Order: sequence, then structure tokens, then C-alpha cells
Amino acid sequence: MNAPAHDPNCIFCRIIAGEIPSKKVYEDEQVLAFHDIQPWAPIHFLIVPKAHIPSMAHLSSEHAPLMGHIMTLAPRLAQEQGCNPYPEGGFRVVVNTGAEGGQEVHHLHVHVMGGPRPWSKG
Ligand code: AMP
Ligand code: ZN
Repeated sequence: MNAPAHDPNCIFCRIIAGEIPSKKVYEDEQVLAFHDIQPWAPIHFLIVPKAHIPSMAHLSSEHAPLMGHIMTLAPRLAQEQGCNPYPEGGFRVVVNTGAEGGQEVHHLHVHVMGGPRPWSKG
């Protein structure tokens, strides 16, 4: 299999390559999950594809299996990280996309946030 697309100037590609440290939550061939460095909620981690996909705006049908994998991993990792069970607990999933969508890091990432409120944001 070809190595996933890598952008040497991208902070999340550098985390995936092990060049910048992160607090790892989960890893497999396709994705890495790690704690957000500036959490908004008691539990706040990011799930990122290992391939450098700049944003959700870049997705097409070929990415459906990858995105299905990420979206089905979210509840499992949320539970493992200590989010309380649905419906009293639960979690929030956010994908900021583009400048007007509030995206700061241009490597696709899914925020997963949870834990007791209040949160600092969101
Ligand atoms: P967004 O605004 O959706 O692009 O979110 C980018 C997120 O990445 C923010 O919540 C940042 O706190 C987080 N972030 C930036 N650099 C790092 C890093 N080195 N390790 C973990 N999270 C980071
Ligand atoms: Zn990247």
C-alpha cells in the first residue's frame, strides 16, 4: 500500500509522523486520535485521518469508508475516554470547515467533546 499523503508543513501530519508529541487516544492504519491541546470540555480529543486531507470540503465518495470509520469510532472512543452514557451523558462531534466554518488547522479533524458541563466553549 502507498504511504498516506503527507504535508511536511502541516502540524497534524507532523504529529502523525511522530515529529511533534501528542497524547494519543487511539491509532490504527487509517487514523490517529489524540487529546486537544486546548480542551473546551472535560474530555476533548481529535480524530484525524493519517492521509493529509485539508478539510471536509475536500471529501468525495471515495472517502466514505474512511469517514464511516471515523464516525463509528467516535462513540467507542468517547466511552473509553470517560464520556457518560447516552442520553444523560453523550458527547459533541464538530468538524470546522474553512475560515467561515472556524477551521484553524487545515488537516481534516473531527472534534469529540464530552463530560460534565459547564464547558469553557461550545
Ligand atoms: P479547528 O479550529 O477545528 O481547526 O481546531 C484545531 C484544534 O487543534 C484546536 O482545538 C487546537 O487546540 C488543536 N490543536 C492545535 N495544535 C495542537 C497540537 N499540537 N496538539 C493537539 N491539539 C492541537
Ligand atoms: Zn496534514
